[in-house]
Amino acid sequence: MQAYCETEKIKNILTASQVIVVTSHKNPDGDAIGSALGTYHFLKKMNKSVQVVLPDSFAPAFDWMPGAKEVVFFDKNKKRAEELIAQADLIFCQDYNALNRLGNMEVTLSKSKAKKILIDHHPDPEVTQFDALFSDVNYSSTCQMIYTLVENLVLDNYLDADAATCLYTGIMTDTGSFKFSSTTPQTHRVVASLIEKGANNAAIHTAVMDNNSEDRLRLTGFALSEKLTVDHKHGIAWFVLSQKELKKFYFQIGDTEGLVNYGLSIKGIEVAVLFTETDERIKISFRSKGKIIVNKFANKHFNGGGHIHAAGGQSNKTLDETVNDFIRLLPELSKQNLS
Ligand code: 5GP
Ligand code: MN
Repeated sequence: MQAYCETEKIKNILTASQVIVVTSHKNPDGDAIGSALGTYHFLKKMNKSVQVVLPDSFAPAFDWMPGAKEVVFFDKNKKRAEELIAQADLIFCQDYNALNRLGNMEVTLSKSKAKKILIDHHPDPEVTQFDALFSDVNYSSTCQMIYTLVENLVLDNYLDADAATCLYTGIMTDTGSFKFSSTTPQTHRVVASLIEKGANNAAIHTAVMDNNSEDRLRLTGFALSEKLTVDHKHGIAWFVLSQKELKKFYFQIGDTEGLVNYGLSIKGIEVAVLFTETDERIKISFRSKGKIIVNKFANKHFNGGGHIHAAGGQSNKTLDETVNDFIRLLPELSKQNLS
């Protein structure tokens, strides 16, 4: 997989820019929010004028993060978001590999004349959409990349405790609390430096992980006992949750985050999938371990993509039709070997 590490170019663009917007992908996860806010605190310390603009909201589990209240959401505050993007002379594009990952914000960003710097660990970046790239699938998280970039720019004295807290959060969530195979010795070195800079690891873990509502916990219990199908023959397990079921548990954004991983914890299961019915579409989450990869399958059959072991997709069919399509594809999915 080709990597890009255009540090000099990034340095020159950063030096020449004063008004900066930091963006991340739709349905922002911990790494998206952590990297956006980490960059925000770093740039503020550098005396840049900076705003984080995200396509839509994140889970309440991240509300406590330093700077979270300052984020402008494109779906809720379109005018302000458009203004900020129009005024920017630099836009950071973080934790996504192509502008189409921005949902409705894509058009506004593609019209912008600002320089665009990509920092991301997903495969196959749309290189022509950006002016400078730091793109490498070997990093655990975009937050780890931000730390490495700042260190390579010899600007790490501008990383304060708030930035360290945000970057730590993203690395922790994207590595499944440092257990996924993407976690390297370098990941731990970066995390050690972030703790030294003031990230309170235990407090961050508690704030993100021990922040369940009762409804969320009961939804998880219901999904585990009633909504999980396990196909031992193909080594695949999947959850299916309808709108009606989600509403019964007063679903909030983030309530199904991590649920899919329970499927992977079953002995002999190498792929786990979660189907959730939203207002507009069926959202699908794929996870795998070992030699089975899911991003190509998500792209080929469900208009999605992502990492080799964690990908997403969607369908405009009904929930039942989508799941039936998927069941027909089980033999193909079980053969998605890394090669
Ligand atoms: P999740 O299942 O948590 O929504 O997403 C897992 C991974 O797949 C994340 O890295 C996310 O960026 C990526 N992903 C999710 N949905 C899509 C999609 O529709 N298209 C692409 N290209 N990637 C996606
Ligand atoms: Mn990420």
